[in-house]
Amino acid sequence: MKEHLKHPVFKVLADIAAQHTIEAYVIGGYVRDIFLERPSKDIDIVVLGNGIEFAELAGNQLKTKVAVFKNFGTAMLRYHDLEIEFVGARKESYRANSRKPIVENGTIEDDQLRRDFTINALAISLNAANYGTLVDPFQGIEDLQEKLIRTPLDAEITFSDDPLRMMRAIRFASQLNFSIDEKALSAIKKQKERISIVSKERITDELNKIILSPVPSVGFKYLFDTGLLRIIFPQMANLYGVEIINGKGHKDNFYHTLQVLDNISLNTNDLWLRWAAILHDIAKPPTKRFEEGHGWTFHGHEDKGARMVPQIFAQLKLPLNEKMKYVQKLVQLHLRPIVLAQEVVTDSAVRRLLFDAGEDIESLMLLCNADVTTKNEYKVKKYRNNFELVKQKLKDVEERDKIRNWQPPITGNDIMNAFGLTAGKEVGLIKNAIREAILEGEITNSYEDALRFMLEKGKEYGLSPAN
Ligand code: ATP
Repeated sequence: MKEHLKHPVFKVLADIAAQHTIEAYVIGGYVRDIFLERPSKDIDIVVLGNGIEFAELAGNQLKTKVAVFKNFGTAMLRYHDLEIEFVGARKESYRANSRKPIVENGTIEDDQLRRDFTINALAISLNAANYGTLVDPFQGIEDLQEKLIRTPLDAEITFSDDPLRMMRAIRFASQLNFSIDEKALSAIKKQKERISIVSKERITDELNKIILSPVPSVGFKYLFDTGLLRIIFPQMANLYGVEIINGKGHKDNFYHTLQVLDNISLNTNDLWLRWAAILHDIAKPPTKRFEEGHGWTFHGHEDKGARMVPQIFAQLKLPLNEKMKYVQKLVQLHLRPIVLAQEVVTDSAVRRLLFDAGEDIESLMLLCNADVTTKNEYKVKKYRNNFELVKQKLKDVEERDKIRNWQPPITGNDIMNAFGLTAGKEVGLIKNAIREAILEGEITNSYEDALRFMLEKGKEYGLSPAN
């Protein structure tokens, strides 16, 4: 184990422990990540005694400032790129209505018992007698090998005491591609309602970590199967299921959405683009209709979906800023490249798409590619070929016409000056007509053409030039 404590800082901490005869251990995520070979910069130290005093001794030795959190009995210091947190070993007991435990001083084993999962309860000794020895009372190493999320204590008590751990279990399973042990899984199913005592921000924090994991469907399947998803994000749970009328079914939009999310996750680590994948079909359940002679339709699900985005962001305490607007825009536009790819790809349709998507065109194309989840290989090939065609056209049209982030060459002010108008309906009409003419390719994207076109339009409206 000693070889795992390569960083010189551990020797410094061990010397302090020896000098002051205080037992100290490295514990938790840092130790877990050593075995997972995931380099980590966050180190947690547990001492049998006063964590803050130990941190101050360490701060003196390492010549660095110590931040003390008296209320929590913890202290933190930064050393080079490491963040080291110190705490005294604790024993915890819980009451029914709060995630906040009653805390007493405890042994190292008490402290390991209060940890959520066996893989997070591993400790390595920093003490002279057994420096570098692994302390693993709950077979955490075995669980790491078996890729298992298991609780040290009775699972129901663990999750009832602190229901955030249910989200953490699923988050670790998703991040590490582990399974959740049977007992823990059935405990989550039983305790799921307890999630209501956890703040929305914390839940969403874990949800975002699930979304950012390598194969996010792992976590979402657990969220759905345990019943947590229906509580924390019912709109997404509503995507589940297939209805059949006259022998005709539609695809299960929950599993389709997960497939799209996994697909896009191969190509982007951007949280918000991944959110757009989650929300692209969110309005399919409320727009679903069965039309005689035609089958299932979801008309307008992109408009309704875009309208649902702010409400879902607010409900989940996600930011109501430009990130939300970005997700909303992608949901709104997600069908456009597909429609385009099914038809003959005209320059004007491509110009319109570029105009509407602006700088988010690449994100939109990634989303649309990810949205192709049909198992029919012929269809997949056809869509992909058409997408390539759309992409090529996008490039050509963009190079030629520079439509992305484009503003028409004539502004509302120009129009008012030209005809001696004040702001009003005609200005808007003429401005739109110029934009449409350029997008349709009737005139070029130049000032001269737009000016000529504006004067003609003005004439049509009975306006004459101001001078
Ligand atoms: P990550 O850095 O990926 O979030 P981590 O395990 O380091 O993983 P932290 O939230 O920093 O996560 O927690 C550090 C350690 O504290 C954990 O490894 C675990 O031992 C313990 N811990 C954290 N939250 C809880 C909790 N809600 N209940 C019990 N133990 C917890």
